[in-house]
Amino acid sequence: MEATTFVLFGATGDLAKRKIYPALYNLFLDGKLPQSFTVFGLGRRTLTDETFQANVEQSLRDFSRREASDELLIKRFSSAFRYNVLDIGHVDDYEKLLNRIEQREAELQAAPNRLFYLSVGPEFFETIAERIQQSGLGSADGWKRLVIEKPFGHDLQSARDLNEKLSKSFAEEEVFRIDHYLGKPMVQRLEALQQENPVIQALWSNRYIANVQITASETVGVEERAGYYDQAGAVRDMFQNHMLQMLMVLAVQLPHISTSEKVRFKKKMVMEAVETLQKQDVATSVVRGQYRAGSINGQPVVGYTSEPGIDASSMNDTFIAARLQIDDFFWRGVPFYIRTGKRMKEKTTRIVIEFKEPLQHPSSEHKKGTVPNLLIFEISPNEGITLQINTKDAKNKGQFKPVQIDLFAGQEDAPEAYENLIFDSLHGDPTFFAHWDEVELAWQWVQPVLEAFEENLVPLRPYEAGSYGPAEADALLAADGYHWWFDTKPETEVETQQKEGEQYAYNTNH
Ligand code: NAP
Repeated sequence: MEATTFVLFGATGDLAKRKIYPALYNLFLDGKLPQSFTVFGLGRRTLTDETFQANVEQSLRDFSRREASDELLIKRFSSAFRYNVLDIGHVDDYEKLLNRIEQREAELQAAPNRLFYLSVGPEFFETIAERIQQSGLGSADGWKRLVIEKPFGHDLQSARDLNEKLSKSFAEEEVFRIDHYLGKPMVQRLEALQQENPVIQALWSNRYIANVQITASETVGVEERAGYYDQAGAVRDMFQNHMLQMLMVLAVQLPHISTSEKVRFKKKMVMEAVETLQKQDVATSVVRGQYRAGSINGQPVVGYTSEPGIDASSMNDTFIAARLQIDDFFWRGVPFYIRTGKRMKEKTTRIVIEFKEPLQHPSSEHKKGTVPNLLIFEISPNEGITLQINTKDAKNKGQFKPVQIDLFAGQEDAPEAYENLIFDSLHGDPTFFAHWDEVELAWQWVQPVLEAFEENLVPLRPYEAGSYGPAEADALLAADGYHWWFDTKPETEVETQQKEGEQYAYNTNH
């Protein structure tokens, strides 16, 4: 791998400690870091290189996926770390940093390839990018890359403004926008699944698929992020980025051999084909919810507006469900249902593909007990791919029952999302990063939703903490004759009978 200087803004912060250092360490253990590699950690705090290295070492002991106990290895790893005081607003600090980086590159006789990782608030992105350019940090005779994390704007216009400013210092191919869902091993597998498997490819369209359900639910509430979350809501925090990215990855139709340009171009085509909503019609396809008091795992929890730091009159969305239609040759007529929320019954990220039942007929007695075929992708916290099919019920003549077949069980030692993404950014592979076109199209879809929420055109539906969200989210599917799969809530007797087999098999498998 090419020599690299990894310049980390926000090196004293939480994200660096919990995710970035452990990810780098695991890449180091796998021999996936360049031979010539230096990390320059930056922050306003005054630290010596030694204290910084000790802090990095501690973060490995606390957060590494693989145990950090071999002191020799840890030391070898941390010896690549340097610390430099830098206040983002101080021009002089960038010049001092440049001197140090140049010295180090000369010492190692390393090419000046520099990766700038911005693990700081988005309000700093523009200033940092500009200063990197002005100071000469970004104009050495090597490559430069900028790695940034969401939030990328807070609406369509602010995202466009930010992108325009960043593009004055970095070309699109130099910008690596992290959406950590794209780093998750199962999401990465999903992209290749239909590409590499003719059986899946043959099924991957409106001919066989009835609907698609994408759920990302959390049991936690707003936690310590009240200031940010009350401004963002589920729509900005999860929907505009992670949820729409999962939709693009799932719906993309890729040729057998696809370059990263091809993947991103095809994802863009998916997003372009998603039917947009007019502000006044948002309420017909989008449900906005906010959690009330309830209980999580038997423990009582307060409602959103009683959380510390949240105004009692807040109308912020902690849940959103939506029905989207992709108007293209492959997906026309297949509803994509997406929901995400906090303080829900279970923590899970899951995609369920429900297949059509072309042979089903209400009068066909012999079909008793059958349920739709499903393909289930567990993305987190467990990983797995499961197929649900109907088989004859040996105990009840003439009856059928669903069984679930595990096609794939997650690998326990799979790399974490940040490992995958940092590795790709070091290699300059942008496949699993969000291209600006995707980000912009996602904001375009979300913009009328934001406006409809702002103007209260969509009622704010309460839901009990520890539930699956407001009843209106169920009604969204019921209107099309479907239901959310695997919600374990009180059902009608008929539903209970129908789902019995399915639920049993599902729970046993997970
Ligand atoms: P944090 O713990 O508050 O850390 C902020 C970092 O920024 C610190 O290292 C701080 O260093 C530095 N900083 C702040 N103002 C600065 C300035 N004027 N000049 C130089 N450095 C400055 O925040 P975090 O949790 O690490 O999150 C960083 C960013 O990543 C945020 O934008 C967040 O939205 C995003 N993010 C975080 C997570 C997560 O899991 N934490 C996940 C996804 C995205 P000094 O105090 O030493 O100056």
